[in-house]
Amino acid sequence: MTNKLFILIILIFIVQNLRAQNELRFSRAKLMGQNDPELYSKSNGLIPQVAEAFEKMKIAALKAGFDIKIVSAYRSYDRQTAIWNRKFKANKSKGLSPEQNIEKIIEYSTLPGTSRHHWGTDIDIIDGFKPRKGDLLLTEKFHGQGPYAPLKVWLDKNAAKFGFVRPYTNDFERGGFKYEPWHYSYAPLAIPMLKSYLELDLSSLLIPETLEGREHISPAFLKKYIRENVLGISSSLK
Ligand SMILES: [Zn+2]
Repeated sequence: MTNKLFILIILIFIVQNLRAQNELRFSRAKLMGQNDPELYSKSNGLIPQVAEAFEKMKIAALKAGFDIKIVSAYRSYDRQTAIWNRKFKANKSKGLSPEQNIEKIIEYSTLPGTSRHHWGTDIDIIDGFKPRKGDLLLTEKFHGQGPYAPLKVWLDKNAAKFGFVRPYTNDFERGGFKYEPWHYSYAPLAIPMLKSYLELDLSSLLIPETLEGREHISPAFLKKYIRENVLGISSSLK
């Protein structure tokens, strides 16, 4: 075999390998929550690399007196559709118009296919040492005399050291989803995943047949939603 041929074969091998890796990491199914949930079941609902970083943060937090517990990690496309539909029906029964209904849902919840929880990089967390009462993920529980306020102070200082950053900050200029002190993204993977995600043709992917209120979601709404909600995140995660 000539040297040139050998180098060519090696190059083809490397390119194929890189392509396979890229597809494996950021396939459309993975970005849209349509992966097999089994893939995450052994790692806390996270991509193994994220689970590893989370474990390190958890150990450090334990030394400081906090038991970081994951309330929500990986969430599938179908699960997100079910959450949307449940909220839509509940709001409808309270008399909200379809437009008001959708605006209400997207204060905190996403359209299926647009949740950062689809990626296996994002977590909602609380302090497991504190008693669980009622709704856990409320802003007031992370501030003032709230049970998770001390954990939030610790996270503000330490989470970024482990790669975890809050997308939905308390910044009125951010727009989009409301402030979520409990939600963290693993930046080293979430940043490139968002980049891949934005390369998808989202306009054709986001409205499942079974979505309540789907006839009120126009292309213009979707465009605004992607700009304000999907991209309405901390600049450190873009
Ligand atoms: Zn969340």
